[in-house]
Order: sequence, then C-alpha cells, then structure tokens
Amino acid sequence: MMLRTLLVLALIPAVLTAQDLTAVRAGRLIDVERGEVRTSQVILVRGDCIEAVQAATAAIPKGAAVIDLSAYTVMPGLIDLHAHLIGDIASADPSAPLTKSGAQDAMTGVKHARATLLAGFTTVRDIGTYRAYVDVALRDAINEGTVLGPRMQVAGAYVTVAGGAGEVTGLAPDVLPPPEMRRGVANSADEVRMRVREILHGGADFIKILATGAVFTMGTTPGAPEYTEAEIRAAVEEAANYGTYVAAHAHGAEGIKRAVRAGVRSIEHGSLADDEALTLMKKHGTWFVADIYNGDYTDSVGHREGWPEEILRKNTETTEAQRVAFRKAVAMGVRIGYGTDSGIYPHGLNAAQLPYMVKYGMTPMQALQSATIDAARAMGWEDRVGSIAPGKFADLIAVKGDALTDLNRLMQMDFVMKGGVMVWRDGSATR
Ligand SMILES: [Zn+2]
Repeated sequence: MMLRTLLVLALIPAVLTAQDLTAVRAGRLIDVERGEVRTSQVILVRGDCIEAVQAATAAIPKGAAVIDLSAYTVMPGLIDLHAHLIGDIASADPSAPLTKSGAQDAMTGVKHARATLLAGFTTVRDIGTYRAYVDVALRDAINEGTVLGPRMQVAGAYVTVAGGAGEVTGLAPDVLPPPEMRRGVANSADEVRMRVREILHGGADFIKILATGAVFTMGTTPGAPEYTEAEIRAAVEEAANYGTYVAAHAHGAEGIKRAVRAGVRSIEHGSLADDEALTLMKKHGTWFVADIYNGDYTDSVGHREGWPEEILRKNTETTEAQRVAFRKAVAMGVRIGYGTDSGIYPHGLNAAQLPYMVKYGMTPMQALQSATIDAARAMGWEDRVGSIAPGKFADLIAVKGDALTDLNRLMQMDFVMKGGVMVWRDGSATR
C-alpha cells in the first residue's frame, strides 16, 4: 500500500529514458562504508547507476525527477549470500524435489525471485539447486528483464559425494534421482575437478561444495566430514583457474577446518565450529555465513507439520550451537556475511535474521554492513553493489523513520529500487 502511495506522490509521471536523472531525497542515509548515518542527503541516479551523493542544500540539476524520501531511512539494497530460489526445498518429504518438473522448479523460482526483491534484497548469491542449471536460467532471465528479481550469483549444481549432503535422499537404495539432479556428484579429487569444470562451463558463477553432512539431507550427519582436504582443495584450485571461488557448506568443526585450509571463500552454516575453527577462519580471512534465524522457523513449523524426526533432531543439535559460535566469531572479528538459507523458510522474510544478529553480538550497523558492503565483498562484487556510492548500481531501499533503532522495521519495505528502476508489490516496475 505504502509503495503505491509513494508512487502517486513522488514519481514524476513522465516517460524517462535511461539517461534521465532522478534525485532521491533521503531524510536519513546509511553510509555502510563509513558506518555512519547522514541526514538530509540527495542521491542522484542516472540510468541504472548512482552518479553522486550530495547534501540536500546543494542544487538539484534542472529537469531531474525528484523522489521525496525525507521521512525515510534510505539504505543500499540488501544482499543474502545464502538463498535457494529454485523449487520448494523445505517440506515434510525429503524426496519432494522428485515430484516437480524442471519447468515447475523454474516457475517457482520466478515467484521466489519477486518476493525476494520486494523484501529489499536486490542481490542474492543463490547457493544451490537440486536440478542443475535452473538457477542459471533464472539469473539470465532476470538480467534480460524477462523476470523481476534480484541480481544473482549462482552455483549451478551441488558438488557433493554420492548420497551426501547435496543429494536428494530418503529414497529406497535401488532408486536414483535423475541425472539432472546428480550433475555435481564427485567421489574423488579428479572427479571434483571434472565436475567443477562442467558446472562452470554450464554457466555457474561460483562453486558450492558440501564439506559435511546436512540437517535437511536424510541419512547424513552435520558433524561428519564428507570430503578430504585434498578433495576440497581440488575444487578451490579448479575454480581459481576460472577466476572464481568456492563456498563450502560445513557444520562440523573438522569439515570447517579442512575447507578453510583448502582455501574456500566462505563457510556456510558453521554450526559446530570450535575455537580452533574460528581462529583458523580469522587467520585465513574466510567469510562466515551463519543462518542463525531459520532454526526457530524449522522447529515450530516442523513440529506442527510433522516433519521427519531426524531433521528436527539435527535442527535442534545445530541451532543454539551455531548461535554460540556466531557470538564468538563476532567478538573475534571473523569476517561475517549475511546469509539466511531462504527456501528453508519462506522467501521474502530474508530480513528476519537482522535482529537475531544484534541479539547475538552485533551492533545494528554491523548487522546492516554484513548484509550490504560486507556481503558484496564476500561475493567479489564490492565494485558494483553494497553501498550508496558513485558508479555503483542504483540499488536503494527505504523504510519509514529511523531504521537503526529497530531492525524489525526492515521486514516491511516501503521503497525498493534496483538499477534505477522502482519495483512495486503488484509486480510492475517503473523508471
Ligand atoms: Zn542452504
């Protein structure tokens, strides 16, 4: 509702071309690079990029369209480093992915992409799909303007051992998922290299490797390593040949240490990290992407809907432990990037983790930095997103009042702009 109101009040109803200038008045502007809030600013947007940020007292160039967000806090678009936009991955039935076609998975992805963008998340790192390369298609459709959604980096397929954390499991032992769901299965260092090459040739931006068992994969144990350090290193080396990096799913301390020593860019989950693992991450500059919100969601919905006992038990074993590790990591100065595992809980609630990060040791500004400039650094995209700075994409969001006093406010976005285009809840977009 607020979005439409804003549209009527603020948007100059002229047809604007890419070269036209828009001036966004910001009552409060969050400068995540400096970690400070500036009042009464104007952001000049030309085409899809930010041209300048100036004081509200400076003259606005003639002919510029003006969007008045004087009563709002304006921030850079948020970034979720751990999202699964393709298909429906959280359910009572671990074999559910087998009941959907690739086309259905893609259409579901379209819906999830829109919900994510409307929630103020203008960039996501999509951290894996069972059916290979549907994420590549979604990313490309968004970039072409066919589908409304966030900017995406995609993993293409899971690099996993056979029957491991990245497989569809819970099936009878003589039933195999289709080949499209097993593109990343690799059982030796040589096979890892082969799969990494195939996945990157298939259009992926980075590699997701499953270094330990998982909460949601039946028959696997979160604490148990599933790859050797040499096998993970093979993925890191091969990805580096293509100019990219590896993100490692790792719950158990041993699996985390192997992945960090092997040179992965980020540890996903990290639930059972011990002090040695955190120290190692700090030393190597490894990003910690800890999804500390969704355990509560899984626990409540899972019990209500009768999810398998194994999943609920593993969720309990990792949820509080992960929050303890997170608090230590914050205190130690480990690099932390914002990732929520959206898909495990409904898409569009991605901001729900921000208050959790404050509860477990961050300042509100640190939490916002983790979801903007730091997340951009973790993706290697700090040259284009993550802050409100000249030359970067005009990805802006706003909420009424002073957002930093209560990050729960970010659950209700009042304004979303991606690349200079304003997006509305009815699925339309306006420049
Ligand atoms: Zn995940």
